[in-house]
Amino acid sequence: MSAVANRSRVLHRSSRTTPPLAVGGHGVWLVEQGGREVLDASGGAAVSCLGHQHRRIVEAIKRQADTLCYAHTGFFSNGPAEALADELVGHEPGGLSLAYFVSGGSEAVEAALKLARQYFLEVGQPNRTKIIARRQSYHGNTLGALAAGGNAARRAPYAPLLTDAFSHVSPAFAYREQRADEDEAGFTARLAAELEAEFQRLGPDNVAAFVAETVVGATAGCVPAPAGYFRAVREVCDRHGALLILDEVMSGMGRTGTRHAWEQEGISPDLQAIAKGLGGGYQAIGAVLVSGRIADAVEQGSGAFQHGHTYLAHPIAAAAALEVQQVIREDRLLDNVKAMGALLQQRLEERFGDHRHVGDIRGRGLFRAIELVADRATRAPFDPARGLHQRIKKESFARGLACYPGGGTADGKAGDHVLLAPPYIVSAAE
Ligand code: PLP
Repeated sequence: MSAVANRSRVLHRSSRTTPPLAVGGHGVWLVEQGGREVLDASGGAAVSCLGHQHRRIVEAIKRQADTLCYAHTGFFSNGPAEALADELVGHEPGGLSLAYFVSGGSEAVEAALKLARQYFLEVGQPNRTKIIARRQSYHGNTLGALAAGGNAARRAPYAPLLTDAFSHVSPAFAYREQRADEDEAGFTARLAAELEAEFQRLGPDNVAAFVAETVVGATAGCVPAPAGYFRAVREVCDRHGALLILDEVMSGMGRTGTRHAWEQEGISPDLQAIAKGLGGGYQAIGAVLVSGRIADAVEQGSGAFQHGHTYLAHPIAAAAALEVQQVIREDRLLDNVKAMGALLQQRLEERFGDHRHVGDIRGRGLFRAIELVADRATRAPFDPARGLHQRIKKESFARGLACYPGGGTADGKAGDHVLLAPPYIVSAAE
């Protein structure tokens, strides 16, 4: 039965329009009903890291479905989840030692926030209830993750439901926040001082964690922090005994050219949220990677993380994610991410670098964005009410290109942008 034959009964993201039916895919291409092929230049929202219908992943899912589809984690562990945890933690730099598997990015962020809270209960510091996050961040759409996020427009309708445990400091967004009389080191020092001041305002002993995207994704468009920023904020957290939570739901799992984006920052987090590129869209899966000190505190304390979901560590999802990670490693795809990322940046600069409405072209690896401005000299963004990003999405989709649009903020602190995050298998010709 065709779902769009008459009227769709799915509540779509936009309730007034039904998007075209996707009926197939291969490599970086998606196939629409009717046969049109669309170049998936953003992997959805930076999800499809291996492109579509990768044979090895499809076969791994079939094998697991033939073996064991589900066993509740209150009773059993399962082979794919154990193997995936071995693949992800216990041997990497950074001391992350356990993996907690959930169904996606928002759930991973929720679990990380709750683990941070629980850690301080376990070690006898129950007063640590505050979490500092950043403006212009996105951590997910569930209520805890939304409260952590600094995207004013997304928060606004649900503000009465959001906890005030979170406060927000400035984003590390050089294009918009670095002052003309300031160099990179000065900008970083100012941001670290602002974080320090926020700890002092809240009372340093009341703060459980600082949470940030290692490279900001959807809200501002592929914004890496200035050099030294994460070392500086790590120091502030350490000075006050607070945890550092990194949200790599979008920027992690190879997207920026290293498995974890924090590997390029010379630090490691206490808790890390991952999703999207973990399962590459083949299954719904996310995870929290947990450092040894938190794992030990729970084990030696209450002995249980109070956060069970029905689909924790789902065997088919874990089998798919394990195969995705093995393919990335065995096919040396991170080399391609680096090479194609550099090429993409170069081509974007050649093609759009002088365009009067392109303010900035930035990113890392295959995680790139173009920020649009009304005026290059003043960097003034377009009026967000014009919805320019949505128009670009529509026009490019009509021409057979799927790219991920982001809107500017009402305060003028971020402009419309277009995010490109093609699969790691993309070729120069594509
Ligand atoms: N955190 C970041 C940085 C994200 O980009 C996203 C999704 O875009 C999320 C969390 C939420 O992930 P999900 O949509 O899988 O719930």
